[in-house]
Amino acid sequence: MIYIDAVFTGKRTVYLLEPPPDVGLQDWNSWAWQSKNSLRTLEDFSKYFELSDEEIRAFSSPQFKIQVTPYYAKLADKKNPQDPIRKILLPSIKEYQSDFQQMLDPLGENQNRPHPRIIHRYPDRLLFLVTDYCSVYCRYCTRKHFTAKDQVFIKKSEYQTALEYIENNKNIREVILSGGDPLTLSNNKLFQVIEDIYKIKHVDLIRIGTRMPVVAPMRIERELVEGLKKFHPIYFMLHFNHPREVTQQSAEALTLLADNGFPMFNQMVFLNGVNNHPVIVKALSRRLLKLRVKPYYMFQCDPSEGTDHLRTSVENSLEVQKALWGKLSGLAMPNLSLDIPGGGGKVGFVPNFETHQEGRTRYYRGWDGIEGEYISPSENNILIPIDVDQYRDS
Ligand code: SF4
Repeated sequence: MIYIDAVFTGKRTVYLLEPPPDVGLQDWNSWAWQSKNSLRTLEDFSKYFELSDEEIRAFSSPQFKIQVTPYYAKLADKKNPQDPIRKILLPSIKEYQSDFQQMLDPLGENQNRPHPRIIHRYPDRLLFLVTDYCSVYCRYCTRKHFTAKDQVFIKKSEYQTALEYIENNKNIREVILSGGDPLTLSNNKLFQVIEDIYKIKHVDLIRIGTRMPVVAPMRIERELVEGLKKFHPIYFMLHFNHPREVTQQSAEALTLLADNGFPMFNQMVFLNGVNNHPVIVKALSRRLLKLRVKPYYMFQCDPSEGTDHLRTSVENSLEVQKALWGKLSGLAMPNLSLDIPGGGGKVGFVPNFETHQEGRTRYYRGWDGIEGEYISPSENNILIPIDVDQYRDS
């Protein structure tokens, strides 16, 4: 591992992940090679890690598939079991323990699944599960009820009926390609899916939810970007969890996407001993923002099966948020949110700065202790804009 001063992140140090001595640069920088040579067995992992006895035992009967790209494996510390990246990618015997709360489908997605490949929870958007395959199976994955089940791309008949479902639901404005990771599809397949969805008149935009810029940034090659930009608007929903994941290769991938007009948002998940500290969140957010990625959410980890040891408390997350509030720019500050287990939707959190209320006056003490009051005009003064009806169907 080499440390360099990156062009893309100013003076901050980022990693350039070099290949192991027996792998050529051309292979290392090939997404196909990374995919084909992914680590899946104990033997594969033993080449990259010095595994403890406990870690070796975790390979005996994992409940969730194990798979990691060589690139992402190289980002983790070879020896230290407490390394943050190692906690994300290596199975743990703690996955077999149930201490607090464990659900196979924590977001209640199966009850909002009108079609095998569609999750439709909100009125104007839905998730289209185009594949169950990921390059890396993150140990905290919230969709273990679907991912890594070896179904890969949808059957032809299911694909057609999924498109018909979107066509028949005129309120759908956004389609979120998800899975699994949509960027594990071939370029041609991905372009075809996008073209088919954009033939549906009421769809305004497509989002691609992907972890590829983190775990295999070489996937963001020019051919992919040139093909995708013909279909704008396409939003990228990324999933960086730790500042170390922003390597030079990732930075180059994000720069290519930004230069070609793709808006990018990051959704981080709080993970125990990985990123649940204001210093880590700040470092990640600032790196991403500089690379034109908006830090969008910091999620409470869902109580997916085998994740008790990876989850943090809501109190811990609130402390991290409060420590950053006001000190980190609004652009760099992700929204703290929790999904109500069972499918209740999102709950957003903000620090409460209101001290009390008297009549129409509300009193506040801000993040650095300065106090002030806000006096609301009378309810009789509140007007409804005259052109509301003009925009009702927009
Ligand atoms: S990339 Fe996403 S869907 Fe795939 S295992 Fe990780 S969290 Fe789950």
